[in-house]
Amino acid sequence: MKSVAIIAELRAVLDHQRAAGRSVGFVPTMGYLHDGHASLMRAARSDTDVVVASIFVNPLQFGAGEDLDAYPRDLDRDTELAVAAGVDLLFTPAVEEMYPRPVLTTVSVAQVSEGLEGASRPTHFAGVATVVAKLFSIVGPCRAYFGAKDFQQVAVVRRMTEDLSLPVAVVACPTRREPDGLAMSSRNVYLTPEERAAAPVVYTALRSGAAAIAAGERDPAAVRELMAQIIQAEPLAQLDYAEVVDADSFTVPEPLAGNLRLLAAVRFGRARLIDNVGVTV
Ligand code: AMP
Repeated sequence: MKSVAIIAELRAVLDHQRAAGRSVGFVPTMGYLHDGHASLMRAARSDTDVVVASIFVNPLQFGAGEDLDAYPRDLDRDTELAVAAGVDLLFTPAVEEMYPRPVLTTVSVAQVSEGLEGASRPTHFAGVATVVAKLFSIVGPCRAYFGAKDFQQVAVVRRMTEDLSLPVAVVACPTRREPDGLAMSSRNVYLTPEERAAAPVVYTALRSGAAAIAAGERDPAAVRELMAQIIQAEPLAQLDYAEVVDADSFTVPEPLAGNLRLLAAVRFGRARLIDNVGVTV
């Protein structure tokens, strides 16, 4: 595996590979890698000829008072994991390489970025869309792999890619979980042992909501209430939101119908965790 920190160098290597007829798979991350990230790398490895992963903690997508400075980093461990997952090129640009001057150009995606995470973190998705547009421009034509764990992020990236005719096929991969159901996340490192023991309640609540719908519940308020009760019964959990929406439009169908997604955001001490599950009526 080769590590590259300079935009022009990565472009040159990938242009050369494509000119030789090789396909490119791309996995953008913020590092502190776990098996969720590795699953995206393995998918890229099996689908494409040259796998590039990026590690960049993107300041644009953190709001004031969020965990930008505390965000966990461990490049040595990440390098080992990326090698084991079959990555060929690890792109690790410094902030000054990505943003040498104040950013005057941003990408914002209306509608799909407005509710849920967008409501709780108002500048988050513009930061994500901007860095992903920039990374897609640097990497060039490719298949790009994202985790369904960040379900709304995938929708934002897909819509941006389509609206801007970017030469990228966006691929969503399933959420990887710990044995007790907790979705893997770099932010799980913030959890105290007590919070870690309580955190699977998020997935439990989402699955209970999905089970209620599968059993015939069609009232979105009842599903929200059920999930909120389960989360609020856990003293260490602080509910941000628990919602059920149409998986494509992010609107709330009433009565519930079609392809639905249940999504929740919950704080445990310093950690703000998100998760989601799908159910079809
Ligand atoms: P992050 O480093 O948190 O920005 O995540 C980088 C990519 O990994 C995103 O596409 C995430 O959705 C994906 N990802 C994070 N956690 C998981 C997980 N538990 N399972 C699958 N993909 C994940």
